[in-house]
Amino acid sequence: MHPLAWLDDELNALDRRHLLRQLPVPLGRQQPVVQLDGREIVNFASNDYLGLAADPRLQEAAAAACFDSGVGRGASPLVCGRSKYHEELERRLAEFEGVEAALLFPSGFAANSGIMPALVDRGDSIYADAKNHASLIDGCRLSRANVHVYSHGDVSDLEKLLSQNHDARRRLIVTDTLFSMDGDLAPLATIVEVAKRFNAMLLLDEAHATGVFGAQGRGVAEAIGIEYEGLIRIGTLSKALGAAGGFVCGSKSLICWLANRARSYVFSTAQPAAISAAALAALDIVEQEPQRRVKLLETSAWLRNELNARGWNTGHSQSQIIPILIGSPERAVSLSEQLHQRGYWLPAIRPPSVPEGESLLRLSLTAAHTSEMLNGLLSALGRNGDF
Ligand SMILES: *Cc1c(COP(=O)(O)O)cnc(C)c1O
Repeated sequence: MHPLAWLDDELNALDRRHLLRQLPVPLGRQQPVVQLDGREIVNFASNDYLGLAADPRLQEAAAAACFDSGVGRGASPLVCGRSKYHEELERRLAEFEGVEAALLFPSGFAANSGIMPALVDRGDSIYADAKNHASLIDGCRLSRANVHVYSHGDVSDLEKLLSQNHDARRRLIVTDTLFSMDGDLAPLATIVEVAKRFNAMLLLDEAHATGVFGAQGRGVAEAIGIEYEGLIRIGTLSKALGAAGGFVCGSKSLICWLANRARSYVFSTAQPAAISAAALAALDIVEQEPQRRVKLLETSAWLRNELNARGWNTGHSQSQIIPILIGSPERAVSLSEQLHQRGYWLPAIRPPSVPEGESLLRLSLTAAHTSEMLNGLLSALGRNGDF
């Protein structure tokens, strides 16, 4: 037995539990119809919510910046990796989000895992929603603060944990605003009230809401209309904005501190300028074409109704992320495979992405799906029970 022999045992164990993942390779661009395993399939797996990932305006902006600035940036932004595109994008992000300043990270995951340890340390306390994204969970772990997990969306549980832990030097409440698997929204209005009462920092991850929620497309905090001096908001350029990267926005002091102290910023090479340029083009579109997000949320509400009318359980979804709750990983995989046969790509989400017994099909709606595609999916799904 060699020292890595355990890997095959573990992989076999995953396979027996229907938890072993394959890595699909769709051909072509991220568009509603892709080529997968030699056939055309309607893609409901992508987080390209506004249909911008293959937009020619983003492609052209990226190509021009690539010829102008090259591909790689060679070093961290603190050394020599920052370009005029990065600077412009951070300025535009701050303006778009209505804050003093913004800071760009190579990915949303890097943003979350780097920001939290820069905000809290040993002796501090974090209060985290039980369904937070993996990158926030890693941020908690890396911070070395005491982590108190409250039940999903349960503000009275959050309040209880805050009042039980008085001695922390700093307190940080952290939550997704739009949860990535269930498509439900955090109760932000009451969370902000509690944060104010306990004088806690509040970190909101708007990854799935950036570009989709709110009158300007800033996210759920804008849609609900919350304001708080202790607010730190994170967004992503990788989903609705069709590019790649993460960002944090807030006060000038916050951004200055994070640029000096967030390890995933300081010790990671700046994102390619082409990506910043594409994100700039995407921000123009988000500002100029609000109908994309309006239509997306209207269509999402329609589709949830249609699914529910056919007996499918979409849980507490209030967004373009529509889970079809199944339960066992085996049944989720089997349904996903049958839909695949019928030309629809809805990935089966299994542990560890969701808790045991909560496997689901995750349907991501984008502004680029046509009503023909949606009606086709509904007839492929039929009634729950008939399938
Ligand atoms: C996708 C996601 C991230 C990570 O963003 P990337 O830019 O894809 O690295 C962070 N938080 C949440 C809630 C996400 O869903």
